[in-house]
Amino acid sequence: MPKVDVLIAGSGSAGIFAATWLAIYNIPFTILEHRSGPLKIGQADGVQCRTVEIYESFGLSEELLREAYHILEVCFWGIDEDESGEGKGGIKRKSRAIDTEKGLSHLPHVILNQARMNGLMLGKMESILKEKGRWEDGKANGIEYGWSVIGLDIDEGKKADPGAHCVRVTAEKDGTEETWEAKYVLGCDGAHSTIRHSLEYRMLGDTSDTVWGVVDIYPLTNFPDIRRKCTIHSTAGNLLIIPREGGHLVRFYIQLPHGVHPKKVALEDLQTQAKRIFAPYTMDFAGVFWWSAYSIGQRLAEKFEKDGRVFLTGDACHTHSPKAGQGMNCSLQDGYNIGWKLGSVLRGLAPPSLLNTYVLERSKTAADLIAFDKELAKMFSRKEEYPGEFADYFVKSGRYMAGFTAKYQDSEVTSLATSTTYIATGITVGMRFPSAQVIRFCDCKAVQLQRVLQSNGRWRVVVFAGDINETTHWRSLNKLADSLEHIAQRFTLEGDDIDSLIEPLLVLRSKFLQTEQGQIPDYFWPVSGKWKIRDLHKTYIDDDHYNSGHGYAYEKYGVDSSVGAVVILRPDQYISKVTTLDDFDGIARFFKGCMIEQQTEIKGAVNRCSDKE
Ligand SMILES: Cc1cc2nc3c(=O)[nH]c(=O)nc-3n(C[C@H](O)[C@H](O)[C@H](O)COP(=O)(O)OP(=O)(O)OC[C@H]3O[C@@H](n4cnc5c(N)ncnc54)[C@H](O)[C@@H]3O)c2cc1C
Repeated sequence: MPKVDVLIAGSGSAGIFAATWLAIYNIPFTILEHRSGPLKIGQADGVQCRTVEIYESFGLSEELLREAYHILEVCFWGIDEDESGEGKGGIKRKSRAIDTEKGLSHLPHVILNQARMNGLMLGKMESILKEKGRWEDGKANGIEYGWSVIGLDIDEGKKADPGAHCVRVTAEKDGTEETWEAKYVLGCDGAHSTIRHSLEYRMLGDTSDTVWGVVDIYPLTNFPDIRRKCTIHSTAGNLLIIPREGGHLVRFYIQLPHGVHPKKVALEDLQTQAKRIFAPYTMDFAGVFWWSAYSIGQRLAEKFEKDGRVFLTGDACHTHSPKAGQGMNCSLQDGYNIGWKLGSVLRGLAPPSLLNTYVLERSKTAADLIAFDKELAKMFSRKEEYPGEFADYFVKSGRYMAGFTAKYQDSEVTSLATSTTYIATGITVGMRFPSAQVIRFCDCKAVQLQRVLQSNGRWRVVVFAGDINETTHWRSLNKLADSLEHIAQRFTLEGDDIDSLIEPLLVLRSKFLQTEQGQIPDYFWPVSGKWKIRDLHKTYIDDDHYNSGHGYAYEKYGVDSSVGAVVILRPDQYISKVTTLDDFDGIARFFKGCMIEQQTEIKGAVNRCSDKE
């Protein structure tokens, strides 16, 4: 019977993201995928700004941005009426608006098909496995295609032992059955999840499914906004236009009448419906690349986990309509959330209780999504109470649709209660850390600070230390460096680099030209990596750049440079805690609350404030 640390059912968006984290933490995993190979075409396409940020954190944003369609504007079309409100027949553009509020993210909202999105991450996973010497050409390398999971059971007698492979998963391929034993199982097997069925968890929520037709076409049309994202409300029905990558392809989402069965929908039905909605504009299909009809109910699984050993993610625990373009985003972010936590637990860095925060955080996100989807569906289908009501609602919901409203509650990895929030008023504990331009000190490159926060398993302590040319600031930074170094040593695995688990990042408000590397405490340029040389890429300056202007990061983060701030970030870029530069005990307590101490006997710290004075 094959044994593995983590068994993942399904290689969709959620499964691939979770597995990529496990590869980063070097944890053995097996994905069982019912398809014969990777997804080739179709399914979701909307990539919210937050998801683009996550791809950037894996070093994949350049490819994604190059290939994708960038959504910069949205147009709202409605019934063409005369002044008395009487329909004249046909449709007209009622308004247009910016797609994503200015300044929300340094990255745009884009469109790229899910097959390619998954493919980019699979490529990343492959490169990590190769780097770790875990890749063998011609072998499965963690993904077993053609296997359908058929059942799961948990060995009650073993589950109290954290090291036990107590979950058994049975799968079938070409008439042969095989059972895997795993410590943890992730149900990433989509809306009809076998894992969820095996746990006998119900999906709660709407029973009446809306049927959507989705079709990727090459349009022959005189409709003027065919290369813009549009919502169209007409007397013949509602339609969403999503221009696709590549320049010509366009996707239509067409809401089909209640009572239609997805299996009974034909491509001609979608063509006829689209023609009627676009009238008086012409709409012919020069070619059809992909189409589908599928039904979606707004539902949530009654539970997201079993015995702290089996976790549901993505469509396996929440389903909703595609109108807001959230399906793939929410699902991959579930995988992104559980992945680093499982990796931390299985590496022995954090206790298994960390996994409870997955349920706390993602069940709330899923419930918010269902509520949002219901409201959007209502707004999409009903008559406006005043002209432009739908457009107003759409613009107001922009932050949500861009993926920037998720706010995680307090837990062992999020601590609003112990934070000193007034010293960094531009950021919110429990939300993702936003970006600002800063200058990398060692080579004068203007960079986005968020880009530095790569998804590699590291926690970050971002220190806003003000101007170190002022002696008081320099002294307090040195004291903090000493303390942080001790804390990092306590939780880092013996033999690993000092910055491998908790990485220090320094953001100064000093003058770039008046700062010298020697002023910066050693802890912020530690000896690390394969070559054991000093890493100079941890110090940033918030100042005017030769070519790129001033990022005003301190203003953006709401940090007063005369006070400073320390911001603790999780490996997924979410803000855990904000505190003062002298809160040594508070920072140590925070890490003790969520990590396992590895080294209690601390060797002497490298930095000595007195050495420098
Ligand atoms: C046909 C279709 C069209 C869609 N179109 C859109 C869209 O246009 N816009 C949008 O926002 N959302 C759309 N969605 C939804 C969106 O694709 C999902 O929200 C998203 O893919 C969920 O990701 P996931 O990883 O949870 O599940 P999925 O991406 O569905 O991945 C689940 C994986 O599990 C595998 N699997 C299933 N059962 C088993 C089993 N028993 N054993 C092993 N493997 C199994 C599947 O083959 C699949 O690879 C669509 C979904 C479908 C099915």
